[in-house]
Amino acid sequence: MTTPKALVAGNWKMNGVAANLAEIEKLNDLIAGGGANCDVLICPPFTLIHQSVQAAGERVEIGGQDCHANISGAHTGDVSAAMIKDQGCSYVIVGHSERRTDHGETDEMVSSKADAAQKEELVAIICVGETEAERDAGDALSVVTSQVRGSIPADATADNTVIAYEPVWAIGTGRTPTADDVAEVHAAIRNVLTERFGDAGNSVRILYGGSVKPENARELMSVANVNGALVGGASLKADSFYGIVQAYD
Ligand code: PEP
Repeated sequence: MTTPKALVAGNWKMNGVAANLAEIEKLNDLIAGGGANCDVLICPPFTLIHQSVQAAGERVEIGGQDCHANISGAHTGDVSAAMIKDQGCSYVIVGHSERRTDHGETDEMVSSKADAAQKEELVAIICVGETEAERDAGDALSVVTSQVRGSIPADATADNTVIAYEPVWAIGTGRTPTADDVAEVHAAIRNVLTERFGDAGNSVRILYGGSVKPENARELMSVANVNGALVGGASLKADSFYGIVQAYD
């Protein structure tokens, strides 16, 4: 079985102005200093993508936080996968729970966005995760596996797909599932991926996201089938994000 190279991805959400680009330069310098046996990605707001690509250096890749399902056209305020690719990005996040909640994005919409991204040769980081009520009702596995099935586009490959498991109740709350709970959900996602892609499904990276910090990164990243992290708050400062990346020293 192939163990994929880990990916530690930062999602800046709607945070950051030009002054924060220094954090990306510092992150690259810290990683260049040693360690970090993983891919490292920062997804800044669209307004900073161009400057972030210039600031990123050799070790940090830059991605988008969302894209439209169409390639161009009359969609005021939206940004296409082609535009993100054109700026030098290699990844785009789709289906983050904040998009699913704030913008009513369904699995079908997320799948269309991932398809647009993959057709532009971007890797789509497809986010899934249960709410607290769904977990309390014992539905976490069925909710998450159904989201994974419904959000991966028909033409996706194992190479251009990353899944991020982010329990909604763990995002920005300081709470995390137990290692056993993470292992159970990631194993269920892995089963869906191997059903879908055959043996190549073993090489799809499954990230864990939700209150990952330097203090808990090593434990969470050592869980079976966890191939990296999607990090919100702790990705805004180079020192704390590097503390997470160091789980892969
Ligand atoms: C996220 O929004 O993807 C996330 C995981 O946020 P945080 O790390 O702040 O919980």
